[in-house]
Amino acid sequence: MQKDIELLLKMQEIDYYIGELERSKDYIPDMIENLKREIDECFESSENYSERLTEAKKEMKSIELEVQSTKDALEKYQKQMLTIKTNKEYDALVKEIDECKETISSGEDKILMLMGEIEELESKVEEFMGKCDEVKKENNAQLETLQEQIDSVEEKRQIKEDERKNLQVRIPRNVMNVYERIRKGRGGMAVVSVKKRACGACFKQLEPKLIQEIKKGERLITCDSCGRILVWTGED
Ligand SMILES: [Zn+2]
Repeated sequence: MQKDIELLLKMQEIDYYIGELERSKDYIPDMIENLKREIDECFESSENYSERLTEAKKEMKSIELEVQSTKDALEKYQKQMLTIKTNKEYDALVKEIDECKETISSGEDKILMLMGEIEELESKVEEFMGKCDEVKKENNAQLETLQEQIDSVEEKRQIKEDERKNLQVRIPRNVMNVYERIRKGRGGMAVVSVKKRACGACFKQLEPKLIQEIKKGERLITCDSCGRILVWTGED
């Protein structure tokens, strides 16, 4: 029986590995998608900053032109002031001059704000250029590894299935049946070690007499609480 228990532990290891391969078929595609999304999002942000930078520069250029033409107009009005003849003409000109000054002042304020924004955007664009290249390089390396992993899942699984078949013929049918029944019923581990004088899965305390029997390994002993096969692996 001790030999059968050792074979069961090997069987359990193989089944765990097959289970991991199965799970990887779900989580690897998720990981691949996340890594690709991270690259896309980085380039998207970079593009948004670049677009806003182009826009801000265009905006500044047009305000600069407006301020310049208003300054030219102001100069013209100021010259006209010298040749004024009536109060009515004077009032009209003062109004024009005030309006020009107002336009120039608010234009210059906007230019200052845009200059600040442009400076910030330029550093963002530069930052993201480096960052995106880095993210792309790093994620592509991971993507390559993950792709290799997913491409080899079936092959690895086949190898493990063959190993499983070879092992199964060496385990008595009744022992194998108990193992399979627990594995299907409980999911996951069917064979567990005694830990701290208790079942390693459900932590039910075990009688000293039962522990002695498990140590001897003369018969298959199951936990009377969770039903799993108990083995002694000398960790206690
Ligand atoms: Zn148990």
